Amino acid sequence: MQPDHILLRLGEITLKGRNRTRFEQQVMTHIRRTLKPYPKIEVTRTFGRIIIRLNNEPYEEIREALKKVFGLSSFSPVVKCAAALEDIQQTSYAIMKSFAEEPATFKVRVKRADKKFPHRTQELLPLIGGYVLSRMPELKVDVHQPQVELTVEIREEGAYLFSEIVQAAKGLPVGSSGTCMLMLSGGIDSPVAGWLAMRRGIQIEAVHFHSYPYTSEKATQKVIDLTRILSAYTDQIKLHLVPFTEIQTGLKQMKKDNLLITLMRRAMFRITEKLAEQQNAAAIVTGENLGQVASQTLSSLQVISKVNTLPVLRPLVTMEKDEIIRLAEKIETYETSILPYEDCCTIFLPKSPSTNPNLRVVEKMEQEMHWLEDEIEKAVSQTEIMVIKSGEHAPVQTSVQTSVQTSIQTRDEEMDALF
Ligand code: ATP
Ligand code: MG
Repeated sequence: MQPDHILLRLGEITLKGRNRTRFEQQVMTHIRRTLKPYPKIEVTRTFGRIIIRLNNEPYEEIREALKKVFGLSSFSPVVKCAAALEDIQQTSYAIMKSFAEEPATFKVRVKRADKKFPHRTQELLPLIGGYVLSRMPELKVDVHQPQVELTVEIREEGAYLFSEIVQAAKGLPVGSSGTCMLMLSGGIDSPVAGWLAMRRGIQIEAVHFHSYPYTSEKATQKVIDLTRILSAYTDQIKLHLVPFTEIQTGLKQMKKDNLLITLMRRAMFRITEKLAEQQNAAAIVTGENLGQVASQTLSSLQVISKVNTLPVLRPLVTMEKDEIIRLAEKIETYETSILPYEDCCTIFLPKSPSTNPNLRVVEKMEQEMHWLEDEIEKAVSQTEIMVIKSGEHAPVQTSVQTSVQTSIQTRDEEMDALF
């Protein structure tokens, strides 16, 4: 049966004491923003519940959009009728008749929020159930494991009837926990890490390091696409595109291959910290995981993290790869992540990176690279910012495109020269 309303339930934000009102408002704002393409809907908030009046806007599309609103625990498509016994009985019957396959068992649940309603809950159960049973002779009541649980919520302004509970994204409204920089590579892990951070209320700004001409335009486009997929869970995401070629080639020329990844990642973190400062971000989020690759042993993470003063959040650190892949599939980043375009880390990957880098050696090397600090500053100042909104297909900024096109032909030659 086509619903005319949707009843939304807020998740754990209802537990958050004095912050509750602020969180509720953030969820409301997010719902309104997400449902902007449906101008006829009306969203109201009463008694810790949010109700959407559909006014003929398409429920199926709105259902999918609502699944991307963090802070909602579940929702139900609802048929509203007058708060009068006869109307409730008829609507209950209409709902029970509307299933493609007629259910064998059911149960009625009544919530009598309007205490002035003339019938008490205990009277209502047989009045509603009996009415339906008398018209559907095959149907039986099963109070323990019914196929359909028909809920009737009676309020002053009307009765809300529903039989389905759709699980939503849960978590906290995006933005309620502040802003963090997400180091976004284009691989499978970092988009998932970003999504998990967003689910805990974090507004992310993505930071991507590219090494034109060694990495291709398509690799950047892939990161833009991933950012766009993530932006469906918030309003928009800023993507910082950091030119990393100079630093990476400079580090490569140090001819200390086993420490190259450690040095590169320390430089990436330094730059990300500087961008975080500019954007007032409170922490850095990465897709690092324990034990996946050489740079992700505990001792590597320790040496790499020494450059940071901000907290580094690693939502995936203890997860299994197949769990991460399942999440990537669920949030629809997987297909994009597995596209073959190479990331700057993969291209410069040495044969045997150290799994146990020595902090003193690394620091000494960095001190000898007198150019490093300047190049880091230059990378920060030459970072380009794109604002990515879900549904929009903004092109890569012209300045980047030009530099890609002119340099792409020489890519193979330069690669040869470097290795
Ligand atoms: P991912 O699947 O996210 O690429 P990974 O398993 O390949 O991760 P690494 O290559 O060691 O692991 O990268 C670890 C983390 O460092 C990434 O999850 C990401 O947060 C960050 N990172 C790596 N490369 C880049 C890049 N080019 N730009 C921004 N961040 C990066
Ligand atoms: Mg990677």
